[in-house]
Amino acid sequence: MAWDFSTEPEFEKKLEWIRWFRAERVDPLDLVYPDRAFHPLDEETGPVVRALKQQVRDQGLWAPHLGPELGGRGFGQLKLALINEILGESSWAPVIFGTAAPDTGNAEIIARYGTEEQKERYLKPLLEGECFSCFSMTEPQAGADPKMFTTRAVRDGDNWVITGRKFFSSNARTSKFVIVMAVTDPDVSAYRGMSMFLVPSDTPGIRMERHLGLMSEAPDEGMHALIEYDGVRVPGDALLGGEGQAFAIAQTRLGGGRVHHAMRVVGQCQKALDMMAERALSRETQGSRLADKQLVQADLADSYAQLQQFRLFVLHTAWQIDRYQDYKRVRKDISAIKFLTPKVLHDIVYRSMHLHGALGVSNEMPFADMWTGAAVMAVVDGPSEIHKVTVAKDLLRGYEAASGPWPSQHLPARREWARKQLENM
Ligand SMILES: Cc1cc2nc3c(=O)[nH]c(=O)nc-3n(C[C@H](O)[C@H](O)[C@H](O)COP(=O)(O)OP(=O)(O)OC[C@H]3O[C@@H](n4cnc5c(N)ncnc54)[C@H](O)[C@@H]3O)c2cc1C
Repeated sequence: MAWDFSTEPEFEKKLEWIRWFRAERVDPLDLVYPDRAFHPLDEETGPVVRALKQQVRDQGLWAPHLGPELGGRGFGQLKLALINEILGESSWAPVIFGTAAPDTGNAEIIARYGTEEQKERYLKPLLEGECFSCFSMTEPQAGADPKMFTTRAVRDGDNWVITGRKFFSSNARTSKFVIVMAVTDPDVSAYRGMSMFLVPSDTPGIRMERHLGLMSEAPDEGMHALIEYDGVRVPGDALLGGEGQAFAIAQTRLGGGRVHHAMRVVGQCQKALDMMAERALSRETQGSRLADKQLVQADLADSYAQLQQFRLFVLHTAWQIDRYQDYKRVRKDISAIKFLTPKVLHDIVYRSMHLHGALGVSNEMPFADMWTGAAVMAVVDGPSEIHKVTVAKDLLRGYEAASGPWPSQHLPARREWARKQLENM
């Protein structure tokens, strides 16, 4: 029986290097260029970012979860989970290691469903870290319910013409290409009537209406675009996968993405807990350290236990994905960690921020982005409610209704059964 929570010593060495590299080499980017991780490199950032990516490559750690055919190491999801816990504390680190959303999800679907030409044109520069990409699915009037998407792609000779509006298309403003999901057959169910298209971002007819930011980011400086597709004409070979396959492709992509968010959040929660413990030991009030107050100890203990539970659940889910190679089979656990992610992040960050008093809610501590992250995680890749429904439905599939008016554990019937059992022994 294999039941082992240890990390191979060789891989542990890699993790140690990643910890050192992120803290010493990548964190400076977060502090000096906090909002530029998803912007094209310029004279200032270019040399240092390219050099850092090269060091990651030299260690054999670039896009390490992807298979060798995609330039990675084929580490899979469990090892990625251990890596992402470290990278998750930094917004630049996933870009430096080739593990950033939405690019890795986009790379995975092009690798799986793309033609050789599409791989050469879109996947290659993406995997080389030479460009950003965008996934354009959500619409202003419809997010969690894909049956309400109205963006259409209509055949016109050998071409397709895409018309509609998409909302919250992350990184559209800096992307080289967009993967657009559009209705191609309105007469069948949305699950079979939508298709995906690979479209260069500078194609005529693509108009960025606004760039939304998160929370208090400055107007129009955000990274999430409202896009109008105004008769965007693309050739027939822009279709990714088969006609009508969009929903199935999106599920492949979102399955991985949801777990990757959770992995990174483990790292953020650990950072919040570390800050909380340091503050508890450092600050004194009413004659003793915060660490000596029982209510503070309770918060520390709750945070530790919540994080351990969550982390083990994330690692186990990653392990299952590696083992079964089938997101559908692990769907219940992916959805469960998806709705736990914002809850755990919220609780631990709030306690840590609160323990820092006024300093905690100031702009001199890193809590604001983590706090925003909790709200974002509850919505991005499907709201928590939807994932709870998925878990409940999946869970119920393993049960049956009781055969009579009483529950199967009704004690009078159980006792009668027990007596008969004992008589026959
Ligand atoms: C930071 C960020 C980045 C994103 N990036 C992208 C991207 O790159 N590409 C892209 O296409 N999309 C992107 N999105 C959009 C994201 O996928 C959607 O926000 C998400 O699917 C939810 O859709 P919605 O915002 O329209 O919310 P809605 O579907 O309108 O839901 C709003 C709320 O209604 C409630 N609700 C919804 N359904 C149910 C239900 N069945 N039962 C009970 N309550 C329910 C929930 O409280 C939910 O939060 C991003 C979002 C964020 C926040």
